[in-house]
This record gives sequence, structure tokens and C-alpha cells, in this order.
Amino acid sequence: MKDQHMHPVYLHDYQVPDYLIDTIDLEFDLTEEYATVKSHLVVKRNPESTTAKNNTLTLQGEAIELQSIALNGKPLSAAHYQIAGGLLTIPSVPENFTLDIQTRMKPQENTALSGLYKSSGNYCTQCEAQGFRRITYFLDRPDVMARYTTKIIADEKHYPVLLSNGNLIQSGKLANGRHWVKWEDPFKKPSYLFALVAGNLEFLEDEFITMSGRRVVLRIYVETGNQDKAGHAMQAVKKAMRWDEEKFGREYDLDIYMIVAVSDFNMGAMENKGLNIFNTKYILAKPESATDLDYIHIESVIAHEYFHNWSGNRVTCRDWFQLSLKEGLTIFRDQSFTADTTSRTVARIADVNDLRNSQFIEDSGPLAHPVRPDSYIEINNFYTSTIYNKGAFRRGMDLYFTRHDGHAATIEDFVAAHEEASGIELSQLRLWYNQAGTPLLEVHDHYDASSQTYKLKIKQVCPPTPGQPNKKPMHIPLLMGLLDQSGKEVASQLLHVTHSENEFVFDHIKSKPIPSLLRQFSAPVKVKYQYSDVDLALLFQHDTDLFNRWEAGQKYAVNLILRLIDAYQHKKQLSIPDEFTAAFQHVFRTMQQDKWLLAEMLTLPSEKYISEQMAVVDVDAIHAAREFLLKHIALRLKDDFAKFYRENADATYLFNMEEVGKRCLKNLCLSYLMTLDDKHIHEEFGMRQFKNALSNNMTDTIAALRCLSNVENSQREQALSGFYHHWKHDALVVDKWFALQASSKLPGTLSHVKKLMHHEAFDIKNPNKVYALIGAFGNNPVHFHAKSGEGYQFLAETIVQLNALNPQIAARMVTPLTQWKRYDKDRQVLMRNQLESLLGNKNLSKDVFELVTKSL
Ligand SMILES: [Zn+2]
Repeated sequence: MKDQHMHPVYLHDYQVPDYLIDTIDLEFDLTEEYATVKSHLVVKRNPESTTAKNNTLTLQGEAIELQSIALNGKPLSAAHYQIAGGLLTIPSVPENFTLDIQTRMKPQENTALSGLYKSSGNYCTQCEAQGFRRITYFLDRPDVMARYTTKIIADEKHYPVLLSNGNLIQSGKLANGRHWVKWEDPFKKPSYLFALVAGNLEFLEDEFITMSGRRVVLRIYVETGNQDKAGHAMQAVKKAMRWDEEKFGREYDLDIYMIVAVSDFNMGAMENKGLNIFNTKYILAKPESATDLDYIHIESVIAHEYFHNWSGNRVTCRDWFQLSLKEGLTIFRDQSFTADTTSRTVARIADVNDLRNSQFIEDSGPLAHPVRPDSYIEINNFYTSTIYNKGAFRRGMDLYFTRHDGHAATIEDFVAAHEEASGIELSQLRLWYNQAGTPLLEVHDHYDASSQTYKLKIKQVCPPTPGQPNKKPMHIPLLMGLLDQSGKEVASQLLHVTHSENEFVFDHIKSKPIPSLLRQFSAPVKVKYQYSDVDLALLFQHDTDLFNRWEAGQKYAVNLILRLIDAYQHKKQLSIPDEFTAAFQHVFRTMQQDKWLLAEMLTLPSEKYISEQMAVVDVDAIHAAREFLLKHIALRLKDDFAKFYRENADATYLFNMEEVGKRCLKNLCLSYLMTLDDKHIHEEFGMRQFKNALSNNMTDTIAALRCLSNVENSQREQALSGFYHHWKHDALVVDKWFALQASSKLPGTLSHVKKLMHHEAFDIKNPNKVYALIGAFGNNPVHFHAKSGEGYQFLAETIVQLNALNPQIAARMVTPLTQWKRYDKDRQVLMRNQLESLLGNKNLSKDVFELVTKSL
């Protein structure tokens, strides 16, 4: 699954289940008022359980009404079971028995979008992590794996399409215009992978021939009218299937692979066995309505969910503590796929930005704990060090998949498979799984001219995190190189940092070199080394490692911005050394062969990333300093930018990496030029591009509109309303429109966001709309952190509203407030007050409560 908030579960709490369920036969009767679910379970006592001897079966259930229950065919009266606190308890059950349970619920009233719910008139499900218990009483935990059959009965006219996991085995017609189907999934699976879809949907069909020659039907189901937007997604499915066969030897196993795109979905997508359910955002795309980034995200999310068929479904995780086993491994797989199919360095930069903007921030905050779904630090590091031996890595993966196929595994199992296949002892690597916090490498160097030796001293520090005051040294693979003063590489090596203090010596170094450290971001750590501006300028212009060239440029810019911030805070004149803009210009003129990477190289670090470098975050100073630098670069490189822009302004849209790179650089030039207070430029470049692209190229439309939305003039309003009127029929495009306005730098953004909450296109029940408007506003530092505290108040009030509708989404929105300790005293008080006021809410959901209390 992509994107989900999880509660921490502790490893030491794990106990094997008392009972196991071999098979479950489900029957759904869907009517407009109720969904009635009959479930037939074949249950047996778990021979491995030591506590099952007291003969009590306990099943989970939530927000469902129990209608009847029968054990071995005999109805149980209320005296024979107990329902309390989301548990159904049946005492004195035999060793082997069947259970028939009938429940019902109202999917149309399920705004939490967990379990069975309705989205735009269609039924669908979301069961990870604990949604299946909102459908029927069950042992709703991943280590209870059963074989499923699913019968669905519904009105044929309104719900012609009835889908579930596995292969379709039977179907038929009933009286009163109703029909039914029966699906059978031959593979055992945990309940979180169950899925059902019923509705009026169209599909796009294709096929894939697997490496062993089996034919697999591929179908992508969409709402009526969207069929022509699923072509890119279909190509992505085939690409992912082929790649997994070639790189990991993994073949698809059912006769059909289905994807359904729904518009109301809490997550990005979900990997249910054979029936993935996706947010429309990650399926629908056409050049006029989706950007290059959308195209790339669609490919990577499709690959991610598809890859789960092995890493997650065939081999699942024993408990939610092992979540990084399925998520970390699958993210690693989809990142490798993206690196192979797009641009290796740009993909790496995107992954690292992601990591730094989310993971590192969480790791340094009160919510730090070692295992989390979004956390791929642990497993990612594991690969970076084993992957240098590709053969051993592949043998380890093969062994892991073969040995644990059809079972629920643990991280220990995974490491053991790699140890066995490689013959290397990996105990130190295991620390990545149970130590939280981001390790810091403090690097000092010394050059001795007489002996021509260069020494690197590397100290490893991992700061204390809640519950873990002392950390052991980790195994950190450090890829590095040395450059001489002319920019020539004189050494390159992989160092293994395994102790608290480490020393590495390089011989025959003729002059004092400049170290290029942590190339390719070879481990998820922070590095501290005193680089001078001259060093950084040299690495930025000459490092042979492209990732570190980008990294040096970012550090160079951060150092400069931090000095500008200091000047701003002391009310001094801001100024920028010529060497900086000269280096920018040199890179712009000499790196044209890789335009996509060049665009990344010339993008300044985000305000969020800069704020991470400060002890006390000063949002206003960060914003002012960064804006000042943007304008300065635009002024100095104006002619270069304008020339490149004009040469590339009117290319027709094609989606390939070459063209993506060109567009990306062109739009970066545009964004610099548009910072200049020059009406002529705004008109000639911004407005012109907006008008030309509006009906045929969303990448260029959005790039222009983003610039225009930050410029205070009459064209701004004209462009924004023109965009809405042109695209109001397309919900995903309207999301972009909301997000742009919520991200605007202009004054008055908050009151505008408040107005947009009442806009005809806004719907607080739709997660995509909430992410677009509220989520984007929470990520708009200057306005969210306005001194008045209005931004905080607005967010807290919105969270209260969301809490009543959809607790998962409400919890997601809390995050910006939980970082309160990072800000000045006044803002701390304001943010705390809002968090405390949330706690005062009587009906606060578990999801929100947990986040708020932890952060206080
Ligand atoms: Zn996933």
C-alpha cells in the first residue's frame, strides 16, 4: 500500500494466534439500504498456541451489526457469546469446527472509507490494516492466512461489474433484475488483502504473456467516460510485470490481474490480491490533463502495487511490526524500477528529497520509532550494502521468496535468508531495524604533504530517541571519492563504517584533496564535514558522481541562504557573492546534455529543507532569504534563461525522458524569470504559455499557472478562473487548482483558502480534495505559520470537522502541528494551544488522539 498512517505495535506483544482459519466462504448481498454479509469459516485450534487450551475464540468486529451466528451448523443464542469492545468472544469451542456468521452494515454511510464503502455510487473496500473487521467478525491479523471464495449478489442494472480476488468461477441471474458472481482465490492470504468492487464501470483490456508462456488478462476498471485515460497505466502494468520477471525472477500467478480506479480513497493505492484498488490520481492520465510528474508517479505506484504480489502477498508479514518487511522491500523494488526506466540520478534525488522531507523530520521529532510504513530507512540501507554483490543479493531474494511462499514472515527471516545465501554474517545490519533516529557521521580529515597521505576520521553518532537513550554503532556503507584542486578525481572507494570511531588512510595523494562523501547517498545518514564555499563550488562544477554534484550545489545554496537569514535577522544588507552565480551559470552552460538533471541542479533547496538546518525555525527569514536569492539568480542569468526558454517554448507534447527533461528545464527557466518584476516577461512568457498549453499540455499549463498564482496582478485572477472554467469537469485537475492556490506566496492566502472550503468543487469527504487544499496549506510555511496563529487555528478547526468524518485523513492533517518544538516561543505556545484544544474534543478518534498526545 502507498501512504498510510499506522499505530505502533510492539514486537514483544506478539503471540501466535490461538485459532487458525483454513477457509472462508463469503456471500455479499448488496441492496440500497444494507450490505448483508454471510461468512462460513473453517476453524481449527493452532497447535503452536499455548493459550488456546482455555477453548475461547475471540474475533474482531467493528461498526457492524451481528444478525446470527451458528457453530457447527447450530445457532448460538446470545447467552453463548459476548460482544464487547470490538470483540466477539465464544467460550468452550471444540478443536475443529465451522462458524456461520451473518452481519450487516450501511456502506453508504461509511465516511471513514475503511472496510466496505460507497464511492461515486460504486461499492469498494479498503482492508489494510484493520478494515476487514468492519465487514465481518474475523481473526483480523496478517498471520491468519485463509483461502477465500466470494459470492456477490447485486442489482444487475446498477452494478453490472462484480469483482473480488482471484479467478471468476461462476455467475448467474436471479429474479428481480439481480445477478451474482463467485470468485475463488487459490492462494492463502491475510484478511487485509481482501477486496470487493461492485458498480457500473468500464474497462480497458490487454494481455500479458508471462515468462513461462501463460496468458494473463489485464483489466483496468474506471468510471464511465475515463477509459481513454487508462492507456498509460496499462503500459505501466506490462512494463512492471516484465521488469519483475527479468530483475527478480517473479512471475504473476492468477489468470487475471485487475485494477480499479476510485475517486474516494484514503491512500494512493492498495495491493489486494489480483484486484488492486487505486486512487484515480494514480491511474488516469492524458497529456492535456496530467503532468509529466503524474505520468512518472503513475508508473511507480503501479509498479509498487504490482510488486507487492510477491513482496507482501505471496510472502506476507507476520504482524504489523514487520511492516517494513513488505513496504520497505517493495519501495526498494519500485525505486529500482524507476531508476531503471527514467533517469537514475534524478530518481535518486527524488527519493532522497522524500526521505529528508518526511523520514528525517519524523526521526528527529517526538514520533520517532524504528518501524513505520513510510520508513524505508532500515531496509534500504540493508540493500545498499548487500547490493554491491549483485549475485549474492539475488540469491538471497530467491531463497527468501521460495522459503516463505504462502507464509507470514518476519524481518529476521528475511535477514536469515540473505545471510545464508551470501555466507556473510549480517548481525550489525539488523540494528537498522530496531534503532530509531538518523545516524550522523562527523568527518575530519588531515593531509600530510611530506608523506603524501590523506586521513579521514569518521565518528558515528546516533542521537537518543524516545525509549532509546543509547545506540550501538551501525554498519554504514560510505561510497566516496577524492578530487584534486583542479576538479580531477584521484580516488574513489566504498568504505565500511562499522565502529563509533573509524580511520581511513589514502596513500600517494599529491596535493590536499577535496572529499566527495556519501556518493549516491549510499546510506540514509547525515554527514557533517566543514566544506568551504570554494570546495562546494568545485564539487558542484566537477564531481564525477552526479548525485554528489547536485548535493554540493544544494549545500552551497543552503550555506549561502543561512548567511542571508542571519543578515535578515540582524537587519543587515543582503548580498550574494559573484562566485555563486558564476558557478550556477557555468553549470547551466556545461550540463545541457542532461537537461532533467540540470533542472534539479539549479533548483534551490525547499523552505522546508532549509528549516531543518536551523535550531529555531524562522519561517519569515527563510522565505525572505530564499526569495531574495531566487530573484538575484534570475537577474544574473536572465539572458541564459530567456534564450533557452525561447528555443524550447513551443515543442509538441511527447512523453519520453528526453522531452520530460527539456520541459522541466524550460519551466525552471520560466519560474526564475517570473520572479522578476517585469510585466513584459509575465505577459510574454507566463500568460502566453498558459494560454497556449491550456487545452493540450498540463505540464506547461500548471508550470505557468503556478508562476502566475504568485504574481500580484490582474492576469492572476484571469488565469485562475480561466483554468477552472476550462477544467471544472475533471476532478483530478481541479485538485491541482486547489493545491496551487493553497500554496501561493501572496498575502491573503489563508482567507482565500477559507473561501475555497465553500467552493462548489470542494468536498471535505473526498480525501484528494482535503490533501489538495488543506494538506497544501499545511505545507505553505509563511502562511501556515503566520504570527497571528490564524493558520494553526484554521487547521485545528478543520481537523475537528474531519475527525467526525474520516479519522485517518484527520490524523494525516495533524502532522504540521506536531512539529511545534522546532519554532520560536510565541509560535510554540500558539501551536500547543491548538493541539490542546484538539484534546478537549470529546469525540476525538483514536487516530488523532494518539498523534496529538505523543507530540505533547
Ligand atoms: Zn505498499
